[in-house]
Amino acid sequence: MVEVVNHEKVSSEDISVTQLLMKSILDNQRKAFYKEGTVDIATRVDRLGRAVSVLQNYKKEFCSAMSEDFGHRSVHQSVLTDIGGSIASLQDASKRLKKWIRPQRRKSMFPIGYLGASSKVEYQPLGVIGCISPWNFPLQLAFGPLAGMLSAGNRAMIKPSELTPATSDLFKKAIAESFDLEELAVITGDVETGRSFSQLNFDHLVYTGGSRVAKDIMREASNSLVPVTLELGGKSPVIIGKSADVESSAAKIIMGKTMNAGQVCLAPDYVFVHDDILKEFVASLESAFKMMYPSIKDNPDYTSIINEHHFDRLMQYIDDAELKGAKVKTLNPSDEDFNGQPHFKIPLTLVIDPTENMSVMNNEIFGPILLIKSFSSLEEPIDYINGRPRPLALYYFGHDRQEERNVLDRTFSGGVTVNDVLLHAAQDDLPFGGVGESGFGRYHGFEGFKQFSNCRSIFRQSKLVSKLAATMWPPYSK
Ligand code: NAD
Repeated sequence: MVEVVNHEKVSSEDISVTQLLMKSILDNQRKAFYKEGTVDIATRVDRLGRAVSVLQNYKKEFCSAMSEDFGHRSVHQSVLTDIGGSIASLQDASKRLKKWIRPQRRKSMFPIGYLGASSKVEYQPLGVIGCISPWNFPLQLAFGPLAGMLSAGNRAMIKPSELTPATSDLFKKAIAESFDLEELAVITGDVETGRSFSQLNFDHLVYTGGSRVAKDIMREASNSLVPVTLELGGKSPVIIGKSADVESSAAKIIMGKTMNAGQVCLAPDYVFVHDDILKEFVASLESAFKMMYPSIKDNPDYTSIINEHHFDRLMQYIDDAELKGAKVKTLNPSDEDFNGQPHFKIPLTLVIDPTENMSVMNNEIFGPILLIKSFSSLEEPIDYINGRPRPLALYYFGHDRQEERNVLDRTFSGGVTVNDVLLHAAQDDLPFGGVGESGFGRYHGFEGFKQFSNCRSIFRQSKLVSKLAATMWPPYSK
């Protein structure tokens, strides 16, 4: 059984059936887009509003579905990240759209600007945008890009992850109740469906996920020269300077690292701590964890790993690090036995002094493992970070403004939070995206609107310049 589109279930072994159906939705969306003509502000605001209502009306059911998909997922966290976070982006776009959409006057070449010619940029929708989203924030990573797509006046097709089937099914149903298939369609299915989806001739394609699949997506999209936005991951570093407030930095890192059990593209992956405060920092991590999670197994605030495959992958990282000589500390305040648990929960595990030959050092962790390295001079973390693929996020803790400037000027990442973690991504007015291997393209706020718009350059010639220009046409003479 292959589930194909919003309203239908199609039983077929043949992926081409899925492909044909997806293609027909795309064709119909494109036809409707052309027929619609100008997409006025009221229509865009109405679409954004309907997306908000979907989240509000199904809030409880969505949280249960996400918990079912993860084995267990903190409901408070789901409300904060997937429901609240998505609503905030959609409402922000709705509020600021009027300002974003305004044509921008630009300077015309001297002297024709003074002689009546004019230049401006107008933002035009692109048409139909495809969006392939992952499992870790199954709603936020579909509704977030949607805020940009709908505010820019586009229609959209979304392919959510097969790893969160309950959430994806409910998402499809809820969207179908509030949107015409020609406006917004959700297409569920497995990796093969994703592959066919990436072959469609969209006006733009957004992919959020791992870099291995991103290469396939880009290759497929290149066949029709479909422009892509790639929102990928990587190993996001933290630098804790000597001037940092150790206790509060540790608590913030615990908060950020345990959110969604570390299954966050921006989660701190490895921490460089100044030698002088290393011991105090590790002790502070332990006490902050104990305070936030006195127990883990049945603690509703602690989320499970998505499935057995990822559980095994993470446990292998820990075993490998231990075998190769790292100091491994499992933060398990109630000394619980995790054998035979109904979910795939893993207690936060600190890997201290890891070496480069460990698999945990060479892969994005995407789970509750935190690597800790020490440094004596700032050059060490800066050189280390610059010797590796450019990360999605970078975090600096400290109150030494010169050191902070040094870190900001000499490292590269998609975004930065100073004296906290993750939070730059929660600011709707800040563009979100990666650099280098962590992806390219930006969304959130005005940059999201712009990303999904055609920034059209319009030059209007004046009568006076036309007359003068005629004197300069060939044949040329002295
Ligand atoms: P995933 O396995 O859920 O895959 C994402 C989507 O890609 C799914 O819808 C899936 O069906 C589809 N897909 C898989 N193979 C495909 C193919 N060959 N062709 C077309 N579509 C295909 O997600 P994942 O990759 O496990 O996600 C985790 C990764 O995503 C991590 O690396 C994480 O850092 C990254 N991530 C990035 C962001 C960001 O905003 N930058 C956010 C979340 C996750």
